[in-house]
Amino acid sequence: MNSITPQPGIMDIALYQGGKAAVEGVSNVVKLSSNENPFGPSPAAQEAVRRSVHELHRYPNTDHASLRRAIAEVHGLDAARIICGVGSDEIIHFLCQCYAGPGDEVVHSVHGFGMYRISAMAAGATPVEVPERERVTDVDAFLAGCTDRTKLVFLANPNNPTGTMIGMAEIERLAAGIPSQAILVLDGAYAEYVGGYDGGARLVEARNNVVMTRTFSKLYGLGGLRVGWGYGPQEIIDVLNRIRGPFNLSGTALAAAEAAVQDRAFVEKCLAENARMRTWLAEALAEHGVPSDTSMANFILARFASPEEAEACDAYLQSQGLIVRRVAGYQLPAALRITVGDESSCRRVAHAVGQFKAGQR
Ligand SMILES: *Cc1c(COP(=O)(O)O)cnc(C)c1O
Repeated sequence: MNSITPQPGIMDIALYQGGKAAVEGVSNVVKLSSNENPFGPSPAAQEAVRRSVHELHRYPNTDHASLRRAIAEVHGLDAARIICGVGSDEIIHFLCQCYAGPGDEVVHSVHGFGMYRISAMAAGATPVEVPERERVTDVDAFLAGCTDRTKLVFLANPNNPTGTMIGMAEIERLAAGIPSQAILVLDGAYAEYVGGYDGGARLVEARNNVVMTRTFSKLYGLGGLRVGWGYGPQEIIDVLNRIRGPFNLSGTALAAAEAAVQDRAFVEKCLAENARMRTWLAEALAEHGVPSDTSMANFILARFASPEEAEACDAYLQSQGLIVRRVAGYQLPAALRITVGDESSCRRVAHAVGQFKAGQR
């Protein structure tokens, strides 16, 4: 007998449920469950990956200077205040490890991204869930959920899995209203999809209590390489860098991300196609009696009459080789989150939902 035990709270963490990737016995599946870019990564990023094989015996650089410079140039930011991580998941993790511990509280919304809770608990802190108003962020609920123990407030804008977002004035009100010991983290995983929205970058620069996180996993189609970044006040970025592994990002990942962020023509093409097919899909689903809120991201939250109907539709879609995301774990049991795919995928999923609904009558 030994007395080896994990840190308090670790065993209370429920394992993250990722989007399904396969259906047994069904070939030619279309995966619309993880908000991936249907066009994959930019050809320039792919070429950078191929070139990187010649350097695989080398350790990657540790300061990520070249990637940070490229990001800073594209977004008009200060490269010194950017930190790169293994997905934005790692930035979220750094924030929790550095700023929250036992007795501290980490606030997120009821339909908020699952990693906030996991990272908070991994740090020994207590996740605090606040309500939304009809699947939209409620700033007053966030403020009411804050206490003198609150250290971090996580808000994805646009939010996942709802696809809705709030305006800059509301975000500013939240940043100004949280307690003085708390950091507001604006998760901008889908910020690129919103024309004219900077993800909160200017707010980061105007205040000392706001951090923005971004990712290469969604619009840039590089989820498999795991690259994300954060932008914050210099003092906070310097803190996060202390616990960052010196070689957290591979040379391949760094090179691909740099090429991807610089290929603006590819980005514009992906954004245009996403906007076009998102509108099309939302309207097609609505015609079949499946409403959704206006999505600002690359997915649609399709609402069904009941949890049973959502589950049955999910099963039918799977039988047709279409994988979407159940979001019961996000307290949305009557909804399915459907990534906006390419045109043929959108047509397939809309057709299948129509067939399902027709069979229900
Ligand atoms: C996908 C997603 C992320 C990003 O994850 P990575 O670790 O960068 O792949 C972060 N936040 C939200 C809300 C997301 O949906």
